[in-house]
Amino acid sequence: MKEILLCKCGELVLKGLNRHKFEDRLRRTLYWRLKKLGEFRIHGCQSTIYVEPLDPAISMDETVEVCRRVFGIVAISRAAVCEKDIDDICKKAGEYLAPLLRETRTFKVETRRSDKQFPLTSPQISGEVGGYLSDLFPHLKPQMDAPQVTVKVEVREEYAFVSGGVIPGAGGLPTGTSGRGMLLLSGGIDSPAAGWMMAKRGLELGAVHFFSYPYTSMEAKQKVLDLAAVLAQWSGKLTVSVVPFTHIQNEIRSHCREDYFTLVMRRFMMRIAQRVAKRCGAKALVTGESLGQVASQTMDALAVSGDVTDLPVLRPVIGMDKEEIVRIARHIGTFETSILPYEDCCTVFTPRHPKTRPHVEEVREMEQALDVEGLVRRAMEGREVVKLR
Ligand code: ATP
Ligand code: MG
Repeated sequence: MKEILLCKCGELVLKGLNRHKFEDRLRRTLYWRLKKLGEFRIHGCQSTIYVEPLDPAISMDETVEVCRRVFGIVAISRAAVCEKDIDDICKKAGEYLAPLLRETRTFKVETRRSDKQFPLTSPQISGEVGGYLSDLFPHLKPQMDAPQVTVKVEVREEYAFVSGGVIPGAGGLPTGTSGRGMLLLSGGIDSPAAGWMMAKRGLELGAVHFFSYPYTSMEAKQKVLDLAAVLAQWSGKLTVSVVPFTHIQNEIRSHCREDYFTLVMRRFMMRIAQRVAKRCGAKALVTGESLGQVASQTMDALAVSGDVTDLPVLRPVIGMDKEEIVRIARHIGTFETSILPYEDCCTVFTPRHPKTRPHVEEVREMEQALDVEGLVRRAMEGREVVKLR
C-alpha cells in the first residue's frame, strides 16, 4: 500500500508575506535531507507539506527518522494513499490501520475535505468509515471524547489519505531562516544543546572547536566531531573549524596571573570564533554558558569574555539548570557521547582559585604582555576544517 507523510508546519503560518520564503526553505531542506534515501516528491503548503516517496523500495521508517529532525515541522502523520472513492477509503483504512486498531479499545474518525466536489460531506465520510471499522473490529467502541485513536481522513484535490496517529516533529523554524551563527563547541553537555536550541530557531550553524593537543587527546577531538555529526542530523550540514589552542594556552600560562587563566583563555576563544564567524557570514556567536555554573560564567566573567567581540553572543542555556540541559542532550542524542571521559582544554587548564569577580581593565592590562593579534592569526592559520553532512 502506498504511504505518504503529511508534515504539519508550525509557526510558519504566522509569517505573513514572508511565508512562502519559509515554506520554500522547508521544502528545500526536506529535499536535501531525504536525498540519501531516494527520490521523493515534496509538495504542498498551506500548513501541510506532503512527502511522497517515488520508489516503493524507500523505507518509510527511515523517512520518518529524517523528517522528525527537520525544524519547522511540528507534527508528522504517516498516511495511506487512497483513491477518491468512499469504498476504497474504508477498505484502505481497515487494512492500513489494522495493527493499530487491534490494540485499541476506543476510537473516533475525523474528516477534512478540501475537495468540495467530493460527493459526501465530512460528517458523512466519518460516519461511513466509522461504521466500516466498527463492523471489521467488533471490539472497538466509538468515543468522541478523548478516544485512544483518532482515525483521520483527508480528502484533497489529488488523493484521499487515512492516518491513525501523530508523531511529534522538531518544531521551531526552518534552518537558515534566521541567518547564520557560529557555535563554540566543546566536548561537554551544554554546547551541543545550546547549538541545537539556536538551530531550532532557524539559525544555520557553523562550529569552532579549540583543540589542545597533547594536553587533550585525539579521542577528545574525535568525540567533538562525533557530537557535531549528531547535531548535523538536526541542523543540516555543519562545518567544524578545529583550531589549535596549545600555543595560546602556554603563552597565557607564562604571562598571566593564574586566577585569570580561564578568563584570558575564553577571551581568545571569543576573538577566534568571531574571526571564523566573519569569514563565513555568521552574525552571532553561540555558547553553552549557563549563569553561575562555573567561575567563568558569573555575570562579571561573562562581561569580560564578551568584551572582545562585537557580535551578539547567544547563550540559550543561560537560565537553565544542568538537569534541564541534560534533558535536551538526551532528547537530541548527544548525551551519551558528551559524558565520555576525555579531557577538555578547560579541564586541564583550570586555576586553583579562579577569579569570579574579574575587572575588564585588569584583564586588558594583563593581555598587554601577549602578542594577541599574532597569536590569533597563528591559530587561524593552523585551523583544520571538517565538513559534516
Ligand atoms: P559544555 O559547556 O559544552 O558542557 P563545559 O561545561 O566543559 O562544556 P565550559 O567550561 O562550561 O565548558 O565552557 C563554556 C562554553 O565555552 C561551552 O559551552 C562552549 O560554548 C565554550 N567552550 C569551552 N571549551 C571549548 C572548546 N574547547 N572549544 C570550543 N568551545 C569551547
Ligand atoms: Mg558548561
